[in-house]
Parts: sequence; C-alpha cells; structure tokens
Amino acid sequence: MLYFRVAVVPPKPIDIQNSLSQGSKVAANRNLAEQKKIFAAYLKKKKLKITRQRQVILDSFLKTEGHLSTEELYHQVRQKDRTIGYTTVSRTMKALTDSGLAREIDLGDSRSRFEPLYKRPHHHHIICVECQQTIEFLSPELEQLQEQVVSHYRFRPVRHHFQVFGICEDCQEHRPPRHEDFDSDLVFARDALRIALQTERNGVNFYQTLAKSAKDPKGKDAFLEMAAEEEKHLQELESEWEAMVKKHKRILKAPVFLHFDYKELNRLFPSPEELQERRIDRLTLEEALHLALSMEQGAHRFFKRYAEKFNDTRGKAIFQKFAEEELEHCELIQKECDRLLSSSPPPPQHQEPESSSEKTV
Ligand SMILES: [Zn+2]
Ligand SMILES: [Zn+2]
Ligand SMILES: [Zn+2]
Repeated sequence: MLYFRVAVVPPKPIDIQNSLSQGSKVAANRNLAEQKKIFAAYLKKKKLKITRQRQVILDSFLKTEGHLSTEELYHQVRQKDRTIGYTTVSRTMKALTDSGLAREIDLGDSRSRFEPLYKRPHHHHIICVECQQTIEFLSPELEQLQEQVVSHYRFRPVRHHFQVFGICEDCQEHRPPRHEDFDSDLVFARDALRIALQTERNGVNFYQTLAKSAKDPKGKDAFLEMAAEEEKHLQELESEWEAMVKKHKRILKAPVFLHFDYKELNRLFPSPEELQERRIDRLTLEEALHLALSMEQGAHRFFKRYAEKFNDTRGKAIFQKFAEEELEHCELIQKECDRLLSSSPPPPQHQEPESSSEKTV
C-alpha cells in the first residue's frame, strides 16, 4: 500500500499552473471532497453511521499537515465540539487508517500518530528523539536499493517504513525547536519543479553551445531554434516557480524532500565545457543532430521513468509533463533531421567515414 505505486490508470494531462498557483485551493477542496466520499463509502460498507462527530474529526485531521497524535487531534476537535470523546477520536482514526486515508506512524514517543495518505508522496522520516521534530524525505536511489534487495529474496513488497531517530540541529545547539510542518505534496512539487528548471537550463546551454560551434548555417539555425524552444519552456517553468513561491511563502523554508542525484541529471545535457572536451566543433551536422536527439530521448526516458515511480501527486504531474515536453523536442529534432539531411546532401567537406555517423559522442 505504501510502496511506490506505478500508475495503472493512464495519466491525464494536468495543468501545473492551475494545480500549483491559482487552482491549488480548488484542488485542495476537491481532494477533501474526494476523501470524504471515500470515507463515507468505507463507513457504509462497514455498516457504520456518518455522525457529525466523525465529520468533525475527519475535517480536522485532513486539514492538518504533519503527524498528529490521537491526543493532539482530540484537543483540536474539542475546540469545535465539546461532546466528542477520546474513544470516538481513537476509533475514527482506526477507521480512517483502514479506509486507506491515513497511516499510523511510530515516531518513537510511544504515541499513536497519524498522517494523511491520500495523494501524498511516499516518504520516510527523520525524527528528533528530544523534540519530536520530524523531517520527511524521499530518495529514489534508496527506494531502488530496497527494491533490489527485496527482489533478491523473491519477496512481493507490500509496504515499508524507514525512520531515522536522532537529535536535531536545534536540540544540539540548545535552541528552541522550530516545529514547522509542511505539506509534503507541495514540497515534493517544489523539488520536482527545481529539477525540471535545472534540466531546462542545461538544455538551453546545450543548444546554444551546439549552435555556436555549428559550421553549417542551416544547422546553426536549427540549434538556435531549439535553444529558443527550451528558453520558452524555461520561462514557463520560472513563472510557475514564482507563482508557487508567491502563493506559498513558507515553501522555501521547507527542508529538501526529494533527495535526488543531480549528477545523473547533469548527464542528460552535457555542460558547455564537457561539449568542448568532446570536440563538438568537429561534428558533422548529422552527428550533432543525432547527439541532440539522443540527449532528448534520454531526458524523456529519465523523466518518464521517474514519474512512473511516484503515486498520484503534484510532483508526479510535473515529471510527467516534463517527460512529454522532452518527447515533443525529440519530434522537433527528428523533423529537423528529416528536413536538413534529406533535402540537401551534406557538403563533401562535412562527410566523415561511414562508421562515425553512428557515434553519439
Ligand atoms: Zn530536536
Ligand atoms: Zn510523514
Ligand atoms: Zn520508501
């Protein structure tokens, strides 16, 4: 249940701008309504009544970010309704867990704690044993390693938890702890957007470098066009970023959620220095186009594979959209290849031995 869920339903196009900025409140409300429906269906199946008290508990829990204990939730709901008893809270949380909307977590303080599960990214916890401050994180590399080990023993994974207990920086420095909970879905989206931005910047640099060293004017134009295309996407991503930061002002304070191998990311589009080292100035137009095509294909596969690993979240939508854009770039370059390489044969001075046309550097 908690394991990375691979999307079974074909992904529907998601308007990131809408889901992250103006529409995020709408999306949150829609999520709330969906969760209430799931819970109502669960109660009906179990022949339990949807009481007003259960509604109050559900509302309070779903609107809270972080990891509430039954006691904390009890105190919260008592502010709204004095008739709600501790047992009702505790039973409702059990029902919420069974319905798949919450999961119980152990933060090492021997309390029953719960966190919302619906459309939240799978994650792990680092917990301070002194102040209970909790950091959530996800590492695709860590997940992959677990998958390898588990499959080695021919296990079919059902769920897993990964918790690290320690002493936080605040407690080490004897400062008052800055207890602050963040919406992991939103922080995941922030990190996904950061990764997309970084890749897009690398893409712009990549095409500008290719354009600069292209001797063939037609090739130069084609690469400049691609650079402009990447620049357009970069600007879109930047305005999404600005909208997100403007709307969720605290978001930049949230610790990194998605621990990501940036080295792997930087391999997708080699830096200008790396391209110089590879002597791209010696490439024929055909070779340069093939290089660009293989880079775009690599980026598409990379983001597609990534998106598939995540359950239904805003971060997943960002990776999916990005993968689709990379695919569009592939098609654009393919078109350029067809146009430039078929209409006019390359001039003789650009012709290299047959074997080198296969090279992708
Ligand atoms: Zn602490
Ligand atoms: Zn958590
Ligand atoms: Zn995990």
